[in-house]
Amino acid sequence: MKGNNSSRSYQVVIVGGGPAGLTAGLYCARSRFDALLIEEAVIGGQITYAEHVENYPGFPNGIPGIELAKLIHQQATGYGLELLLAEVIKVVPDHRHNLVSTSEGDFIAESIIVASGSKFRKLGVPGEDEFVGKGVSYCATCDGPLFKGKIVAVIGGGDTAVHEAIYLSKFASSVKVIHRRNQLRASKVLQQRAMAEPKIEFIWDTVVTQIEGDGVVRQLTLKNSKNDRISELELAGVFVAIGSKPNSAQWRGLLPLDEEGYIVTNELMETKIPGIFAAGDVRHNSVRQAITAAGDGATAAISAAKFLSF
Ligand code: NAP
Repeated sequence: MKGNNSSRSYQVVIVGGGPAGLTAGLYCARSRFDALLIEEAVIGGQITYAEHVENYPGFPNGIPGIELAKLIHQQATGYGLELLLAEVIKVVPDHRHNLVSTSEGDFIAESIIVASGSKFRKLGVPGEDEFVGKGVSYCATCDGPLFKGKIVAVIGGGDTAVHEAIYLSKFASSVKVIHRRNQLRASKVLQQRAMAEPKIEFIWDTVVTQIEGDGVVRQLTLKNSKNDRISELELAGVFVAIGSKPNSAQWRGLLPLDEEGYIVTNELMETKIPGIFAAGDVRHNSVRQAITAAGDGATAAISAAKFLSF
């Protein structure tokens, strides 16, 4: 990692160290570009929360997300990619002299690849913030083992929710999947696995309206969205898995964003500003898979290389 390196210039600055950013870094560094990757939290991004990644090609038996992240990191830095742990505070686009201000100093970037990913969406109900870390969690891989023999709920109906429910069934005595509709969004293979797990129970057409406890989570208040019936559910843990929102705040007013805040690009990962590219989960229309994020990262790096060669 670099320390404070104020105003150093790079041909490519990559913002974000998930599969998209790391792959962009691998391609840039291997092509002998002077490249810096800036990550504010965890190298590997959200993939590090995946207990076991089963659909990344090349790993027929699957691979823990954290191991996959380590391997891509090792491969990219092996070719000379520089890494900096810092928060990007502001970006001032200026053709080939873009300023990237971070908590560790300023950098000048000839081109930028934005691969800052997304963060967990919150339910926004009373009790959620109060009980974070005291029964409310956004990561089953991180916190699941704390709920051995206890009743937990997973909120959501997508791949993440069903994946988390299956993982939690290894520890919890019972896993209630609470979904606002009566049909899951998750892939069929995950649905089948979850339906076959006797510890998993689905509560359909239901939303959480309140999380309560006495220092730790004890109870959810639920509302049936079809008949408005209110009920209560005693439990110890609530895993919120209702999707994510983009880490794109620095780009508001600079780049076109879609209505949810994802950065709009073309298929070459080019944004509206020449020399600024976006890749992975932060990009509009991303299907949000590790492998597609990596593909976006490679495309963005190749586009950046073309930009730099003119
Ligand atoms: P997602 O597909 O957007 O699903 C979010 C779920 O949360 C939906 O079921 C949605 O309900 C529900 N939801 C959204 N807002 C809600 C609210 N305010 N209250 C209650 N429920 C709410 O998100 P995801 O599951 O995190 O998946 C994101 C992407 O990652 C997807 O492309 C997915 O395929 C991918 N992924 C893949 C794997 C894998 O193993 N291949 C694993 C994890 C994630 P509705 O269905 O009613 O909209």
